[in-house]
Amino acid sequence: MSKHLLVTGGAGFIGSNFIEYMLGNTSYSITNIDALTYAGDIDNIKHFNQNSKYRFIHCDISNSTSLKQAFDREYKAIINFAAESHVDRSIENAHPFINTNINGTLNLLNAVLVGKAKKMIQISTDEVYGSLGHEDLPFTEHSPLAPNNPYSASKASADLLVRSFYKTYQLPLIITRCSNNYGPKQHREKFIPKVIINALNDQKIPLYGDGQNVRDWLFVDDHCRAIHMVLEHGEPGEVYNIGGGHERTNKEVITLILDYLNKKHQLIEYVEDRKGHDRRYAINWGKIHKELGWKPQVTFRDGLINTIEWYKNNKIQ
Ligand code: NAD
Repeated sequence: MSKHLLVTGGAGFIGSNFIEYMLGNTSYSITNIDALTYAGDIDNIKHFNQNSKYRFIHCDISNSTSLKQAFDREYKAIINFAAESHVDRSIENAHPFINTNINGTLNLLNAVLVGKAKKMIQISTDEVYGSLGHEDLPFTEHSPLAPNNPYSASKASADLLVRSFYKTYQLPLIITRCSNNYGPKQHREKFIPKVIINALNDQKIPLYGDGQNVRDWLFVDDHCRAIHMVLEHGEPGEVYNIGGGHERTNKEVITLILDYLNKKHQLIEYVEDRKGHDRRYAINWGKIHKELGWKPQVTFRDGLINTIEWYKNNKIQ
């Protein structure tokens, strides 16, 4: 059995943490393909080059010709992290999201179809389910897809393509839908890194709307462990929700970070709300817990301190 994995988008936040986890905890060899867009960070991956079980190929998954170079061997699985991932950018211009998130996923599915990989795990998001009210029950795998912005619409479209390839060709395809991740190596445009970096530099911290939007925070290491379990034991055709069990308002998250860094709350600056801003995401991860035995292990406080310390040591001169 092949011990090669093809990881896409491995220079980004979750992909680079996943490679770190797999090289450290398993015997898989990993090919990382990444287009190195603005979101890909060489610093996230350069230390992997010393590992003989790792190689990097600079490649755009939406370009089927360029993608061929990665398929010089047969993979046990493709883990598809590559995506345009920032909601605000998708509101400015949705085209790159359609290109990478939909066309890129289709190219990878076609590679599975012709036998270049034995299975594929599509890394999706809870945002495909849309938004919840404060009293609503968390999303389950049976919640309808109701994306509210171009980013989540492109991810939902990719999920439907994956589903259709499973139904049509009976390919071993699995979808995971996770809640908001946090941890080291995330791009500074994202919420928690931006708050940490601005606070460390005594700069204003923009807070959308009334600050009461709720996200369920998942520490990235917990997510990587879940994906590994799905890789080994997940059932083809299934969807697995992965959540952190830590619902917090955006205001609460900022306050925790400011208090830990001993900074004044006056740094918070309320700004006009994001267009189509989803009010609340919360995800029911009972299925992956019951069927694969996974549950999050990192408390929000521990994960946040780990993250803040990483940014202090790595991103602030
Ligand atoms: P990221 O933006 O940090 O990284 C994306 C990576 O993909 C970058 O390295 C980028 O260079 C690469 N990439 C972009 N377009 C590409 C293309 N056409 N070909 C090859 N590589 C390309 O994203 P992330 O936060 O690590 O998210 C990874 C996956 O997890 C995404 O699919 C995202 O939708 C999903 N997800 C993320 C979160 C989160 O909180 N970060 C939550 C739910 C789901």
